[in-house]
Amino acid sequence: MVKTTHEEKMRTARFKPDVKPHIVVDGQKCGECSLKSCVYVCPANLFVPLADGSILFNYEQCFECGACYVACNEEGAISWSYPAGGFGVTFREA
Ligand code: SF4
Ligand code: SF4
Repeated sequence: MVKTTHEEKMRTARFKPDVKPHIVVDGQKCGECSLKSCVYVCPANLFVPLADGSILFNYEQCFECGACYVACNEEGAISWSYPAGGFGVTFREA
C-alpha cells in the first residue's frame, strides 16, 4: 500500500457545495470573541479575521472535520451540521 502525505490527501478533495450553508457563524458573537480559535484550527483556512474584529467565513471548501465547532469558546457561535446527501467534500484516489 502506498503511503500519502496529508498535503497529497488534501489535494484529492473535491467540493460540491449545497446552496444552504452547513455551518453558520454568529457575526455578533464572533465580533466579541477575543480568542478567534477557529482561525488557528481550521485546516482549510476558512475563517479570516478582519481588521474590525469580525470574521469572514466561507463554508464552500470545508473538510467537515468539526475542529472549529470543538475549538470555539463561545457557546452557540457556530451552528454546525453535515451537508445534505450528495453535497460537501469527497476525497478521491490520488
Ligand atoms: S472562536 Fe467561535 S466565536 Fe470566536 S471567532 Fe471563531 S467562531 Fe466566532
Ligand atoms: S469543519 Fe473543519 S474544515 Fe470545515 S470550517 Fe470547521 S475547521 Fe474548517
